[in-house]
Amino acid sequence: NRRIVLASRPQGAPTHENFRLEEVDVPSPGPGEMLLRTLWLSLDPYMRGRMSDAPSYTPPVEVDAVMCGGTVCRVEESNLDGFTAGDLVLAYTGWQDYAVSDSTMVQKLDRDMARPSYALGVLGMPGFTAYTGLLDIGRPQPGETVAVAAATGAVGSVVGQIAKMKGCRVIGIAGGAEKCRYATETLGFDACVDHRAKDFAKTLKDTAGEAGIDVYFENVGGKVLDAILPCLNTGARIPLCGLIANYNLTGLPEGPDRTPIFLRNVLVKRLKVQGFIIFDYQPRYPEFLKEMTPWVASGDITYREDVAEGLESAPEAFMGLLEGRNFGKLVVKVAD
Ligand code: NDP
Repeated sequence: NRRIVLASRPQGAPTHENFRLEEVDVPSPGPGEMLLRTLWLSLDPYMRGRMSDAPSYTPPVEVDAVMCGGTVCRVEESNLDGFTAGDLVLAYTGWQDYAVSDSTMVQKLDRDMARPSYALGVLGMPGFTAYTGLLDIGRPQPGETVAVAAATGAVGSVVGQIAKMKGCRVIGIAGGAEKCRYATETLGFDACVDHRAKDFAKTLKDTAGEAGIDVYFENVGGKVLDAILPCLNTGARIPLCGLIANYNLTGLPEGPDRTPIFLRNVLVKRLKVQGFIIFDYQPRYPEFLKEMTPWVASGDITYREDVAEGLESAPEAFMGLLEGRNFGKLVVKVAD
């Protein structure tokens, strides 16, 4: 039974020294408990926040504790009503092979689910984030232009595809030519601009064109946000979902303070900027699932996974996520 614990808190980008792989006994479930075997582990950007003890919306992972994370598990042994060996569940058991659970934060999945890992992505937290942030906060109207950053990722790919279904023009922003090609050719976005390319800001402005941008789904911050501001139309909406470009910062970014430019845009263009944390929307998860499941089954929503093999690959894969090395929703295949 292997588990990966937080060995120390990172200063800036996480390194291998911040993680430790340990071997421990397989725990045995007591009365009212069950033993879960991890099959799939989700790796998500929010985990960088949990590695730090800066104040946030949830407490940090303690040093020497198992790294947190959503998982798809198989019930191995159960002393709990409603769960039997062989059941497939969505759980929050973190970076480890086995865990004992009293069913808190555990949700049963269909045993015959074709792709159980999708419960960690398009049919789970990231898909729900895309759906809710875009439709509730972005409120895109047919004919409007929606821009989304980290466009080929777990959240961004779903945002853009839903926006297309709602009759919008969609501009993705992604790192590299291959991701941009995927966004237009496979995801069906109207355009995708490479934020790593020279002249990124100018290309984005030219791509937005006269029509401008009505909804900007923010996943990134930093220079991508700087480039978006001049393209925004009066009354544009910004669902503020994530700021991944800032997650490894240890202080304020170098260079002049750009806050006045941002705030001037908010004022002059009457922008609506709303941050949101998906946990707050949990009661509406069934409603999302009901709509998203057929979209995925029919292929209206295309979904790509980036699979890291084996629990031991989690630290390296996670570090890559914070640098854009993943291509699609990052999951770790822990066991069959
Ligand atoms: P992704 O699958 O999109 O992976 C992260 C992507 O971010 C990378 O592939 C990379 O894409 C991009 N990226 C990483 N570093 C940088 C950087 N320095 N500058 C620009 N882009 C960068 O992750 P998710 O879809 O899981 O998450 C996307 C965002 O949504 C994150 O900010 C996350 O924190 C947020 N989120 C927020 C939630 C909420 O409740 N508010 C819930 C879930 C996610 P590329 O190579 O294309 O640049």
